[in-house]
Amino acid sequence: MGHPYQHERIGLATIHGKDLAVAPPFRRLLGAEIVTAPDVDTDALGTFSGEIGRPAPIVETCALKAELAFQTMDVDCAIASEGSYGPIDRLPFRPAGVEIMAFVDRQRGLRIIETMATHRTNWRLFTFRAGDALVRAAAISMGFPEYGVFVIANKDRSQPIKGLASLDEVVAAVDREANRSDDGSAILIADMRAHRNPTRMKVLRALSWKLARRLQQLCPKCQAPGFGHIESRRGLPCEGCGDATHWIDFEVDGCSACGHAAARPRKDGRRTAPRLSCAGCRTAHAS
Ligand SMILES: [Zn+2]
Ligand SMILES: [Zn+2]
Repeated sequence: MGHPYQHERIGLATIHGKDLAVAPPFRRLLGAEIVTAPDVDTDALGTFSGEIGRPAPIVETCALKAELAFQTMDVDCAIASEGSYGPIDRLPFRPAGVEIMAFVDRQRGLRIIETMATHRTNWRLFTFRAGDALVRAAAISMGFPEYGVFVIANKDRSQPIKGLASLDEVVAAVDREANRSDDGSAILIADMRAHRNPTRMKVLRALSWKLARRLQQLCPKCQAPGFGHIESRRGLPCEGCGDATHWIDFEVDGCSACGHAAARPRKDGRRTAPRLSCAGCRTAHAS
């Protein structure tokens, strides 16, 4: 018997070519076909250039985006992805990102979210005044022109300049937007749309495989796709006194359709945690 999603048409709301990342694993692992929703303007839900506020936290936005496909397409399953990139609080000069992919099956009542954190990104944000000689070097450091960039007036972020094709165009846009901004400065920022960002496309590809592999696993109780990790329980007993520590004791796999859950022991086979990780034993040792 084949996988429940064999020959299933799965909707993907995108205007940024994300189907190039999503379609191969879904075809190869599940035999499913990805179909894109051409009329859905996902920009309405917010974009990386920051000109539209996001309606809900990122995971919720992502699931809502997947469900948008049901309005325009005759499908029961849909996928959407959402990414967030920027500086890390603790390490301001080291940008990072997280990608989220939501899968919704409205027939079976499934909602599965997979995420992937990454340090691989060209995300950068620079602020320039008109005539700054470093604009070209900054654009090149973000991979331009293979990677896209946006230019935005610092005091009016409602109209980012997209589709810049040459360094001369980038420089001209920075000068124009800086002069237009009340504070005389313009922002030069990486374009994170998948079709203009090969590194992001690569992360999306890896995340797509992760999601398709998860959907390959069927619930042992109800046979719904997507049985897998839902939480990690802490409290692995201390090797000395047996008290619960902050170490992970076991993993829990679950089904989002019927609620069935099953515990799975640690992959490394540990049954106890080292004394050093135990608050009780550490205090006893110190006194
Ligand atoms: Zn189930
Ligand atoms: Zn102990």
